Amino acid sequence: MSNYEAIKEKLLQRKDELERGMSQLYKEQVSEDQVLDTGDQAVSSSLEDIKIALHDKRLHEYQMVMKALEMIDNGTYGICIECGNPIAEKRLMLFPNSTRCLVCQEALEEKGG
Ligand SMILES: [Zn+2]
Repeated sequence: MSNYEAIKEKLLQRKDELERGMSQLYKEQVSEDQVLDTGDQAVSSSLEDIKIALHDKRLHEYQMVMKALEMIDNGTYGICIECGNPIAEKRLMLFPNSTRCLVCQEALEEKGG
């Protein structure tokens, strides 16, 4: 069985938050569209851009969370995808979506990724 019950809890919590956030965003979009006629086009479209970016970010994180949960279930969670070494549990607690160990992550970021 997995040692990652606490992390799984965190991921499930985050998943709920993201789901709520995303459905909230949809609701806001609907209600705003109904009153947007008087608004400045430029302002409203940049507001839309921000919302879309925010949504993309959430969706991206949501996919990472789902992936992490899947990996916990099939026992591949916590293994660095670059070097195959186990990722420190402390790191996983802080960043449950980590798919790389600290060494590989830092190497990646140094490359400008
Ligand atoms: Zn690694």
